[in-house]
Amino acid sequence: MTQTPIGRFRFMDQQNVNLDGFATPDAELGLIAFDSPHDPTPSISIHNGEVIEMDGKTVDQFDTIDEFIALHGLNIPVAEEAMAIDSLQFAREIVDPNIPRAHIVHMASGMTPAKLAEVLAKLSAAELVIAMTKLRSRRTPSNQAHVTNRSDDPLLLAADAATAAAFGFREIETTVPVAGDAPSNAIAVSIGAAVASPGMLVQCSVEEAAELEMGMRGLVSYAETVSLYGTEQIFVDGDDTPWSKAFLTSAYASRGIKMRVTSGGGAEALMGGAENCSMFYLEARCVSLARAIGSQGVQNGGIDSAAVAGSVPGGVRSLMAENLMVMVRNLEACTGNDALMSESDVRRTSRTHPIFIGGSDFICSGFGSIQRYDNMFGPSQWNSEDIDDFLAMQRDWGVDGGLRTAQEPEVVRLRRRATEAVTAVYSWLGLGDFTSAWAEQAIDAAGSKDVPDSDLMLPLSASRTILDTNVTMLDVITALAETGFDVEAERCLDMLKARVAGDYLQTAAIFDEDMNVLSLVTDPNVYSGPGTGYRPSEKRQQEIDTIRQQKSVSDIRNEQATFVTDDLRVLGEAEVSHDPRDVVIGVSPATGREIWQTLSGISVSDALRELLAGLEEEGCVGRIVRINDTVDLGMVGLQAARMSGSGISIGLQAKGTALIHRRDLAPLANLELYSVAPTLDKELYRLMGINAGRHAKGATPEPMRNPYSDEAIEARYHTRVVGLVAIERDCSSSAAPETMEVDR
Ligand code: CA
Repeated sequence: MTQTPIGRFRFMDQQNVNLDGFATPDAELGLIAFDSPHDPTPSISIHNGEVIEMDGKTVDQFDTIDEFIALHGLNIPVAEEAMAIDSLQFAREIVDPNIPRAHIVHMASGMTPAKLAEVLAKLSAAELVIAMTKLRSRRTPSNQAHVTNRSDDPLLLAADAATAAAFGFREIETTVPVAGDAPSNAIAVSIGAAVASPGMLVQCSVEEAAELEMGMRGLVSYAETVSLYGTEQIFVDGDDTPWSKAFLTSAYASRGIKMRVTSGGGAEALMGGAENCSMFYLEARCVSLARAIGSQGVQNGGIDSAAVAGSVPGGVRSLMAENLMVMVRNLEACTGNDALMSESDVRRTSRTHPIFIGGSDFICSGFGSIQRYDNMFGPSQWNSEDIDDFLAMQRDWGVDGGLRTAQEPEVVRLRRRATEAVTAVYSWLGLGDFTSAWAEQAIDAAGSKDVPDSDLMLPLSASRTILDTNVTMLDVITALAETGFDVEAERCLDMLKARVAGDYLQTAAIFDEDMNVLSLVTDPNVYSGPGTGYRPSEKRQQEIDTIRQQKSVSDIRNEQATFVTDDLRVLGEAEVSHDPRDVVIGVSPATGREIWQTLSGISVSDALRELLAGLEEEGCVGRIVRINDTVDLGMVGLQAARMSGSGISIGLQAKGTALIHRRDLAPLANLELYSVAPTLDKELYRLMGINAGRHAKGATPEPMRNPYSDEAIEARYHTRVVGLVAIERDCSSSAAPETMEVDR
């Protein structure tokens, strides 16, 4: 008989994290992060400069992966020395700031997959962060964006590519929901990226042969979706071998196209081919293979199978260790924060955060710079829903996550120019025509749902024409130049020239916005403890620190100035009263001077009207007195009580905080207090007036309660409170208390 769980558990079951799958570890299925009992013990035997035994297998037992690694993936001259190093000792050297990166990389080049898996499994989460800080190839971190949409809309793709560049992304990866649209997408994204910045790397992820063809036509400038797996069977199932992957890799490089491979722990388990091994060991084979086939970098850390790794104990740590393994192999690390691995905002942040603070060549292997629903790779770990969060996180930690704030007017300008450039090029090349309504929708759109005029057939027919008439990037450049987009033509041409120069084929190469190559060669990462390694330049730190939401005191002052009214006036110096019905409402120095609206959004005048009306209901007479010489609400209230005929007062700060005071109490004591100003409405001020009246008559009022809220009230209002208090302080003086009146 099943019983309904108690409320506490029913409630916990409703939380987002319980939409995630969690697996009981099972080595037979490959559902184990580290150290499967079936993982081999590291070993190597070399005879006459050739590997004759590796990780427990002799040459005759090698599968194709072992064979390829043994032939091309090991630095034979250092292998015996490297394999003899105690694994714990080497793990310590990895995090030791006194041991240079170059030494770690050199020794690791002689280590087998099982050895490197054994070494890196010894690092704790915190040690992984330090190791990443020290070992990534490029000093300057960067970030990669996904730019896609459900309709393959060229105008929206271009506008969104320009927007991504404005936010700081240096690589843009696009793909298609409809395979035939790929060439159009590649051109649209390349044009949009060039509108915003020189040196943007663009990729269109599709089937390998089609992608290579687009690369050879110059329509894209990098590739990263040559997939590697850790067991032979999965290669065979995909009609591939390490040799075919090596051939493809060389094909890209030979045409001057930057490329990295893709792998990631959990993929083999997901495809039912893990051969009883741990995810981390199988990924160690992939990374060794990546090195062996000549790729300059690896996109790994789960990728499509991140949720599989995330379902087992230690899985998220193994994802980060995979990325570190790429760095230790001296390759570019594109860290796998692309697939959304959890429905829980807490878990997905937890998964990315150590990499974010450690720093990676690309923090996200595909940040969805577009909305989740438009992400044709599936939702990313981070999407446009999260850009402001990510920017705030950068600012919180002072960390360079590769992004920056983009100002709205600049984004409008870029989106408009991107749509104009695509319209001009498509028209000039005879690829299609766009209506102005469509363009306007694309400029304004937050996503493809906002572009109802998009013609779904246009990208397909444009792509056919591109292929049939053999359009290359040179034709696009000509079209740009002929239609008045000289800057964009120049930027696209520079990308073709860069291919010939080849500097961006060096490990971990990106272009900065001045077309300088930043790579392992030109921007090497050197970390030897605090005060060394990457530090953002002053300009870059300014970009990290300045977000569009930040407010200064003068911003708050200007905001208050828009609420000025003339219904609140000073009458003259205030006097002490002896009327037992008299209740003074003491107000703070900025009242009627600079602060006109309380934190809850009602006017100070309205709050006063309610207090006066409440007092009247109890037969009392309210009198407004501005206390000029203190910003402390307790003192405002106490001074007011001492002037009050009844000895009872209300203290009101212009920001809305209010209390009831009595003349014989200490300043910090009070009868009743509304402390959470943002939650106070007119009714509550009315109630405070009534209660103050009852105190004045010697009755016992029912105490007021601060309204309940589960919102982050403090996060929302505390900075504004600091600003408002500063304004109060500026308004305070030694001036005597003054009587005020408010229109009723
Ligand atoms: Ca990617």
